[in-house]
Amino acid sequence: MSTQPKNSAWTVLITDGLQESAIAILEKASAVQNRPDISPDDLMKALTGVQAIIVRGRTKVTADVFAAAPDLKVVGRAGVGVDNIDLKAAKAKNVVVVNAPQSTTIAVAEHTMALLLSLARQIPLADSGLRRGEWLKKKLEGFELSGKTLGIVGMGRIGSFVAARATGFGMICVGYDPMLSNDEIAKRGAQPADLNNVLRRADVLTLHVPLTPETRGMINAERLSQMKHGAYIICTARGNIIDETALLAALESGQIAGAALDVFATEPVTDSPLVKHPKVVCTPHIAAQTAEAQERAARDIAEEILTVLRGDAPRWRVA
Ligand code: NAD
Repeated sequence: MSTQPKNSAWTVLITDGLQESAIAILEKASAVQNRPDISPDDLMKALTGVQAIIVRGRTKVTADVFAAAPDLKVVGRAGVGVDNIDLKAAKAKNVVVVNAPQSTTIAVAEHTMALLLSLARQIPLADSGLRRGEWLKKKLEGFELSGKTLGIVGMGRIGSFVAARATGFGMICVGYDPMLSNDEIAKRGAQPADLNNVLRRADVLTLHVPLTPETRGMINAERLSQMKHGAYIICTARGNIIDETALLAALESGQIAGAALDVFATEPVTDSPLVKHPKVVCTPHIAAQTAEAQERAARDIAEEILTVLRGDAPRWRVA
């Protein structure tokens, strides 16, 4: 589908679909080519005359794409992760890259709570038991969140929203974030502590850090062994922050009583012993997948794209 307002100076190519309300924002100021499911080959042919591209996670905006897009000024990710955009190539070609980092905060925080409650009350096992006709009432004794300590690694947007929600359940939140002052961590709803302290105190540990060279493999065998025997761990951040082999061993030994994972070292995850493990609750990277978050991401990115095209400074520039 292509729409062209009179005298529009710009063409925006949407390659992974976008909500109607966001397309309407774009159409007020630009021509829009909506090509959901466009193949990589067709994408290469569609780039001349395009000033902006909006993607979600599917389209790979590679160095070749930048090279074949002589008029490109901005790439927008309707969401948070920009792993599918070659940021170096964008910089080299002077193309701005923007994302919508605030759009999914509530969704991810709520999904973290859903995983926390699923672990505490073993809801997946209870549900699958009933589907098999088994009444597992006696076997499925859970634990209460109230009075337990939640260790939060990364007290940014999502970490602090999780702290607020967990506090509502009567949990004591302990937070580690080396980029924030103790006062700021306290303001965001957690008792500040160093990582060792968080690991030692947490009944449940939840991770809300980006994947960086420092956080890759951050939760390894040694750190898991520092945790309370029988603690739980949740990750809705990124695969590879937890060393999956070490986690599997800790689950097997009982050092870790249960884990809830929305993200994996390899995605889509297919044949992983972790996914099939009885002490693991997992979801296929759906933490941000709510109607509200996707709508917010789409509208935020449409506004960001027009801001850049107008020559103004965007709110969320990543390159
Ligand atoms: P944010 O930038 O607001 O917060 C991240 C926090 O981590 C920052 O405060 C930063 O100081 C802190 N941090 C960085 N390195 C650290 C380290 N080594 N140790 C401890 N803290 C560290 O980001 P956010 O919006 O809260 O998102 C957090 C992460 O959640 C994202 O980076 C992304 O990987 C993930 N995420 C996942 C989904 C999903 O669908 N599962 C969706 C959105 C975001």
